[in-house]
Amino acid sequence: MIHKQKKLEGQVALVTGASSGIGAGVAKALAQEGAAVVINYASSPDKAEMVQAEIKSQGGTAITFKADVSQEQEVIDMFEHIRKAFGTVDILVNNAGLQKDASFHNMTLEQWNYVLGINLTGQFLCAREAVKEFLRRGVVPERSQSAGKIICISSVHEVIPWAGHANYAASKGGVMMLMKTIAQELAPKKIRVNSIGPGAIRTPINHAAWDTPQGLQNLLKLIPAKRIGEAEDIGKAAVWLASDDSEYVNGITLFVDGGMLLYPGFEDNG
Ligand code: NAD
Repeated sequence: MIHKQKKLEGQVALVTGASSGIGAGVAKALAQEGAAVVINYASSPDKAEMVQAEIKSQGGTAITFKADVSQEQEVIDMFEHIRKAFGTVDILVNNAGLQKDASFHNMTLEQWNYVLGINLTGQFLCAREAVKEFLRRGVVPERSQSAGKIICISSVHEVIPWAGHANYAASKGGVMMLMKTIAQELAPKKIRVNSIGPGAIRTPINHAAWDTPQGLQNLLKLIPAKRIGEAEDIGKAAVWLASDDSEYVNGITLFVDGGMLLYPGFEDNG
């Protein structure tokens, strides 16, 4: 085994939706372990550049790239740009995602298609382009024991139903089977595909759930660990799944949720 001072030294990582929240936290964590990071963003160059500046100020390497992950040509162009800039890509973190909430009978087809288009089709499009590049390059032992690693940012809602969020929950359930199926299909090619299932993480997506004392108190009832998660908690898990430390791990969802899946309603004897 090749000893590296930093776990991801010499590797290139693309993190989608990395201008805020979990994506920004993951991009910084991967950069700290030596990966050159591509910060994908959809609409806020200023925020993406702030993440880039922070990584560079700590001696890391990062570029920004604008692309809507739900648009096939934009995703293809993004991977082409990465190959020109860095020669290849080793790690994809499929993080871009959003919610458009509605009670089921009021949900429009537009709300449904919008969420599925980004949260599920976006992960498909990025994974497909990443896999093409992993297959082209194959394993280079100086880089990693794997030809490539994909980390899908899913959610506890790949298993917990979520009233009022049918589009979001369906997209994350879809991500689970996309992840498992391509993990099975590509394992013989030394490509590893896993998910992280965050619980409640303090980011802009769910600010309404934590930015008032009452909201936070209600939220903590769902979390046995009694604290909301931070983007850094997801960053640490992403480093492990991206590194050779998890070389024999394929097709799992690593839940990082403070125990949210442990039926917290039964905490007081049910
Ligand atoms: P966030 O809103 O801060 O981040 C989402 C990012 O995705 C944003 O930067 C946004 O610009 C980007 N994005 C949206 N549409 C895009 C598109 N079409 N193309 C490219 N980028 C796009 O929220 P977050 O909490 O950091 O969410 C990141 C991921 O984590 C999402 O997939 C979300 O479902 C998942 N997640 C979050 C939580 C949580 O509690 N915060 C829990 C479970 C799962």
